Amino acid sequence: PLEYAPAPESRSIVDLEPSYGLFIDGAFTEGTDGGTFKTVNPATEEVLAEVTEATPADVDLAVAAARRAFRGWSRMPGRERAKYLYRIARIIAERSRELAVLESLDNGKPIKESRDVDVPLVSQWFFYYAGWADKLSYAGAGSNPRPLGVAAQVIPWNFPLLMLSWKIAPALAAGNTVVLKPAETTPLTALLFAEICQQADLPPGVVNIVTGAGDTGQALVSHPDVDKVAFTGSTDVGRSIARAVAGTEKRLTLELGGKAANIVFDDAPMDQAIEGIVSGIFFNQGHVCCAGSRLLVQENVFDEVMERLKRRMATLRVGDPLDKNTDIGAINSREQLQRITELAEVGDAEGAERWSPPCELPSSGFWYAPTVFTGVTQAHRIAREEIFGPVLSVLTFRTPDEAVAKANNTPYGLSAGVWTEKGSRILAMADRLRAGVVWANTFNKFDPASPFGGYKESGYGREGGKQGLAAYLQEGETT
Ligand code: NAD
Repeated sequence: PLEYAPAPESRSIVDLEPSYGLFIDGAFTEGTDGGTFKTVNPATEEVLAEVTEATPADVDLAVAAARRAFRGWSRMPGRERAKYLYRIARIIAERSRELAVLESLDNGKPIKESRDVDVPLVSQWFFYYAGWADKLSYAGAGSNPRPLGVAAQVIPWNFPLLMLSWKIAPALAAGNTVVLKPAETTPLTALLFAEICQQADLPPGVVNIVTGAGDTGQALVSHPDVDKVAFTGSTDVGRSIARAVAGTEKRLTLELGGKAANIVFDDAPMDQAIEGIVSGIFFNQGHVCCAGSRLLVQENVFDEVMERLKRRMATLRVGDPLDKNTDIGAINSREQLQRITELAEVGDAEGAERWSPPCELPSSGFWYAPTVFTGVTQAHRIAREEIFGPVLSVLTFRTPDEAVAKANNTPYGLSAGVWTEKGSRILAMADRLRAGVVWANTFNKFDPASPFGGYKESGYGREGGKQGLAAYLQEGETT
């Protein structure tokens, strides 16, 4: 196995503290009972820092700070709130290298993704919603759209900063205040974001960050003084949150798992399609809720697609996330690696055929080689369950009807991809696919102006666009 040697120059861009506190009422604090947890670099298993484990008492303090701040923030003219959001967006752009390196250290994703995709999108998200803040209030008397109040936001580890921006930017633009809990394996960039809020002179209490595991999340979403809950994560936890919120007046949006079909017709622009299949499943190690984890290939081009796909997979470089040439970084945690390993083994046991390119993995850290399964049927667990790793399941179809039936045969419905030269076929497919986003001749494209969200077990509510803003307004609409 390769020896792991983190790229030293990029590592030094980040000034890691040995320990991090909570961010409550505009200041970093140690927490009420002194409990901490460790966050590790998944590429080396080295401990990056000790982070405070927020107790229910800490969550109380954070919610109380958000409640106090709500009065001033919600009454501030939209154009003033916009100034803060623009300032935050600019600071993110200015500090983008530092944010990207820290994200790759804590999450394991390749620096070329955190640098070129995650962090630029985070900045765009704040710029976009800054532009909405002053469009919400009318001049003169009238009923302006009103914010909900205090938002409790819980996010996963796969896009720590990007999910933070999807939650915080629209909430603040609409005049809400927030308490956000990042995932326990990736808390660091949310804490750096807290520092950016200080740098932007954001009024204390408008943004609060509490770190911890599921218990902290539970205390936050079930807090009686919270008006809105926004969650991104697994379907199981989403369901438990829906139960906790049921019977209260809290508004709820859920962004959950997925098992997207990436559908390749025989007339697809094949060079692009191969790239789209590869980025659809291997981007961010496949830790993507909308990953194209089921490839549906028209039967008459199956051999060609598989041959080209395998050739392309053999060029993917797996290794040091801080190396600019790395395509696939580390799996975020030992637990996630175990889940991927187990589910892929179920694929073997159920008779699917596994292939990975020859690939040397580093000797420490959590790694999984890019993997493709053929001979998969709809009954196989690897065709139905979310693997959330770099593992692709390939199925075939003959007709568009069969493609639609197979694509929709899933409890999820977050996204889908269609590859064909025929515009009319794209529209017909998009109409019939039960998924919140349908990409045509591309995959994993995100834009702050476009709403994103699920059907069925992928959750409800939309993030992005004016729909994402409406989710933080009393009226549920922007005008
Ligand atoms: P997870 O549900 O285990 O954890 C998500 C967050 O919820 C973490 O911050 C965790 O600490 C917290 N949490 C855990 N138990 C909780 C509880 N009982 N109450 C409140 N909070 C609790 O998910 P994960 O493993 O971190 O993330 C992977 C999952 O997230 C995948 O299924 C993926 O598809 C989904 N995801 C969805 C989207 C989307 O936009 N739809 C985006 C990213 C990830």
